[in-house]
Amino acid sequence: MNEPELDLCCGCGGAFEVIDGPVHAYMTSSPGCFAAFNELLAAEYSDVLLQKVHRLTVDAYAVQHPGSPDDRRCVQSVGLHLARLFVQLEHPMTPQRTNEVMGDFAKDKASLIYLKPPAQFRLTVAHAAPFAGSSEHDAKVRAWAEAAWHDWSAHHDYVKDWVRQRVDL
Ligand SMILES: [Zn+2]
Repeated sequence: MNEPELDLCCGCGGAFEVIDGPVHAYMTSSPGCFAAFNELLAAEYSDVLLQKVHRLTVDAYAVQHPGSPDDRRCVQSVGLHLARLFVQLEHPMTPQRTNEVMGDFAKDKASLIYLKPPAQFRLTVAHAAPFAGSSEHDAKVRAWAEAAWHDWSAHHDYVKDWVRQRVDL
């Protein structure tokens, strides 16, 4: 039996099978990592119960694939998705209020500054993807999202201030 060949994702550092496949336009990753992310998304699009964690999946993935500091889309993506993680994990709101707040954040993303990523992430999408669509999907995504937020702790003060300037928590 052949073991699948693995390589480390240039974004999150996770080990994923070496495959040929697409990657995101600016959330730079290995194709295997992007495929793992898409397995989670597919399960979330097809199961109404899993839609509760869909935003966390997207946010955790985005902050672990920061791309180039010279690309304004990357800078904004990291800041915006960190702001979304902070609100969801530490100040959960009703779904409607969450939507409003996320919309306000997106309108103001041009004000976000570059944040240097942590040297490594303790959990990656590889933690959750094997459980896509299973009874553990929700818990695995939450644990991954919590870890992703925690690993950015050097910039928590900046993110929290940015959020508090825009929403009453
Ligand atoms: Zn990755």
